[in-house]
Amino acid sequence: MDKKQKHLGLSNKDFKILSKYLGYLADNMGLRDWTLIISHEEPDSKDAWASVKPVYGRRSATFFFSKDFRDVPLENQRAACVHELLHCHLDNIDSLVVNEFRTALGEVFWNGWYPGFKLVLEHGIDAVAEAWAEKFPLIRW
Ligand SMILES: [Zn+2]
Repeated sequence: MDKKQKHLGLSNKDFKILSKYLGYLADNMGLRDWTLIISHEEPDSKDAWASVKPVYGRRSATFFFSKDFRDVPLENQRAACVHELLHCHLDNIDSLVVNEFRTALGEVFWNGWYPGFKLVLEHGIDAVAEAWAEKFPLIRW
């Protein structure tokens, strides 16, 4: 058995498989020219299987996977990867809204409005990810 990587519940072999799979999905989702980095840290949210932090305007993103990601059902692993990759396409929308409207709307209105915007965006990404993920093969650990 491979030595476990620090902070990520994946062996070195599994880490390489996940990197290759994420790259395969990205290539087939219009993200071929993106630089994808998989962090050894977990997502900020304890409830998340995965998360992503795209770099605004850079076509680069860092992905975070939970320690138990390998134990998640394969269909959910695939959907989570597709979901996070979709964020790369749509992150500019979020950045535009934050950069253009945060100050203009004022703190009180912004604090009431922005969480709803984020939630609607997440639901949209989830819906597209669920439908699109089925078109891709499952990861083969
Ligand atoms: Zn999301």
